[in-house]
Amino acid sequence: MADRKFRMSSGGNPRGVSAREPDPLQFFRELVEKRKKSSKRTVRLRLLPEKHEEEILFNIGLTAVRLWNELNYEKRKLFFRDDLTPEKRVEINRRYYHMYKKVLGVNAGQIINKNEETWDSFFELLKLKRQGRLPPHIRKISPPGYWKDRLTGKKKIHILIRNDRYYLETVNEGEGRLVLKDFKLSIRYVGRIRWEGKQGRLEIIYEAGRWFAYIPIEVGVDPPKSNLQGYIKPNYKDKKNRIFNPRSIKQRDPVGDKKAFIDIGLNNLFAVVVSDGSALLVKGGVIKSEYYWWKREISTYQAVRDLLRNAGFLTWIKYHEKLLRALYKRSERLRHLYRTAIRFLAETLWSRGVKKIYIGYPIMLSQYNGNEYNTNIWWYRKIVLWMIDVFIEYGIDVEVIPEDYTSMKCSICGEIHRDGRIYRGLYICRKTNKKINADINAALNIARKIGYKIIITRKIESYLITHNGVKPLIPLQRANTRDPEIRNLALKGGEGSCH
Ligand SMILES: [Zn+2]
Repeated sequence: MADRKFRMSSGGNPRGVSAREPDPLQFFRELVEKRKKSSKRTVRLRLLPEKHEEEILFNIGLTAVRLWNELNYEKRKLFFRDDLTPEKRVEINRRYYHMYKKVLGVNAGQIINKNEETWDSFFELLKLKRQGRLPPHIRKISPPGYWKDRLTGKKKIHILIRNDRYYLETVNEGEGRLVLKDFKLSIRYVGRIRWEGKQGRLEIIYEAGRWFAYIPIEVGVDPPKSNLQGYIKPNYKDKKNRIFNPRSIKQRDPVGDKKAFIDIGLNNLFAVVVSDGSALLVKGGVIKSEYYWWKREISTYQAVRDLLRNAGFLTWIKYHEKLLRALYKRSERLRHLYRTAIRFLAETLWSRGVKKIYIGYPIMLSQYNGNEYNTNIWWYRKIVLWMIDVFIEYGIDVEVIPEDYTSMKCSICGEIHRDGRIYRGLYICRKTNKKINADINAALNIARKIGYKIIITRKIESYLITHNGVKPLIPLQRANTRDPEIRNLALKGGEGSCH
């Protein structure tokens, strides 16, 4: 019976394998297609354990981590001796399952499964590498690592719970209890659940001093008869009425058949051109200042940490922890801002009759320095995937278009003016002398690329993202769209932006 859990699963691996053409976007496109069809949503709940419950969670967590690390150590050892055969993997898995099931119950099998999935993905990448078909954004591949901090060795706590070994109880709007059957725990949670469906493997993670539960839901799918409790239901009333039917990902149908073309950036998070001749800018505003604020914060901690560490002072660990915390806070805050902006954009474009959006994907090779580029491309991919999730709810289709030279190409005459960007906010056509917002120029080029020649017939609308939502900019403020701050040399380091 237990053997079923040791099957080598390749599920959950986002990197598809197939096709031959050297399309720089191939892997990302496959990921996009998969995401579009997916009926899965993951909810994140904040857990608020009592003191004694937290102790139990730590105990379970540390045991789970030990299982992962020991199991993984054996596999790595064999791998480096070129001796990690499928039979040996099965044997190791079985041995560790029996060793740990006393404490973790069947949940031990979940950790083993996850470890197997990670090894499977690694072997797939190795195969691609041998065939010279590694996706361009992956530079280095390495065998699955340990659940611990690379520098301090401190364990990273993960707990995995099988889909039928837990359930949720709603207590009030947006709060309730998470019941872990194998550990006799009923832990308070807060967090909104908008979907309804069959629950998957629960993951509990301790992040920057907080406990979070991640629950995958197969939206609209009924639970098996053997586990009727394994069904998640919405726990609050959606006052904005965005979710009419929590059993379906798609909530609406398009009300028109317009197309929109979107360029993603840092100054203008979204520069959008619609096939009806309208255009809008969703300005990054707070995102940009947050981004640079955290960037400074992070590099300071990093510098101090390295200095202390190289000089042999133990206090470096303190700065390392500050650094981790800053990284975590940055991604939390940016995540919130991006998601607010995406929701706003989807709602706006839907209400204006957009049926399909085309998002430009920057294809750049070597002109950017590694780290900055990697961070940006990471965020970029994340934003596009979030956009898919939200636009699909509105019944709007999404396509990703490779963007090459879009920032240099002229949407007015179609030529490339290498000196077209006079400063970052503005593009000038050297042939006709016409001026145009540089990001709108890029969006027009995306349209052009798939055969739409759009003429902007209306005033460009501008919106600003803040922590309290998206605000329209009145014309006077809009004059600022020309981005005086861009001429500030102090910001020049950010030249890479999201592109
Ligand atoms: Zn031109």
